[in-house]
Amino acid sequence: MKEYNIGKMQLQLKKHLDVERFNHTLGVMYTSAALAMCYKADIKKAQAAGLLHDCAKRIPDDKMISMCRKQNIRINEYEKANPFLLHAKLGAFMAKEQYDIHDKEILSAIRYHTTGRPEMTLLEKIVYIADYIEPWRYKAGNLPEIRNFAFWDIDKALYMILKNTLIYLQKHNRIVDDMTEKAYNYYKELNSNRITEIK
Ligand code: FE
Ligand code: FE
Repeated sequence: MKEYNIGKMQLQLKKHLDVERFNHTLGVMYTSAALAMCYKADIKKAQAAGLLHDCAKRIPDDKMISMCRKQNIRINEYEKANPFLLHAKLGAFMAKEQYDIHDKEILSAIRYHTTGRPEMTLLEKIVYIADYIEPWRYKAGNLPEIRNFAFWDIDKALYMILKNTLIYLQKHNRIVDDMTEKAYNYYKELNSNRITEIK
């Protein structure tokens, strides 16, 4: 099994992010690790995915677009309207090229951290949720409740985040990525078909 040099990756990454983004990144890394402990996922992979999820975040929109074109990374209509969404796809590409990450699970956790998708893998769920609940986040009103659910009902937490995201995007008249909508519908259905155990 490949060992990930998290410390080295951190130093490399720090050069490409501002203080706020770097703090957020560390928050996502530690929260991903905690969720991995809770759900018995691979802790090192969770750390690596959490650490690198926003590695393309500081690249200006026009540069992201030109990099995607150069690498034959398909840009869909939602990404065309909101180029910042591209940092997920491009982040997965950069994790591979610049941070030597070849693990498919880690790369897809980075790839889907902005939109989510139906039938997410455990690592995808972990990074998606960690991105929303890490300690520096404060805006969402029901964050304490989501943080609580995250550690005992991961699919419920996922559903709550997808719902918040859709409401937020609609309220601000922002175009909603098809994938987010599909993910929301999938987890809405999943959660309605089971009775949540009260703990
Ligand atoms: Fe991001
Ligand atoms: Fe993030």
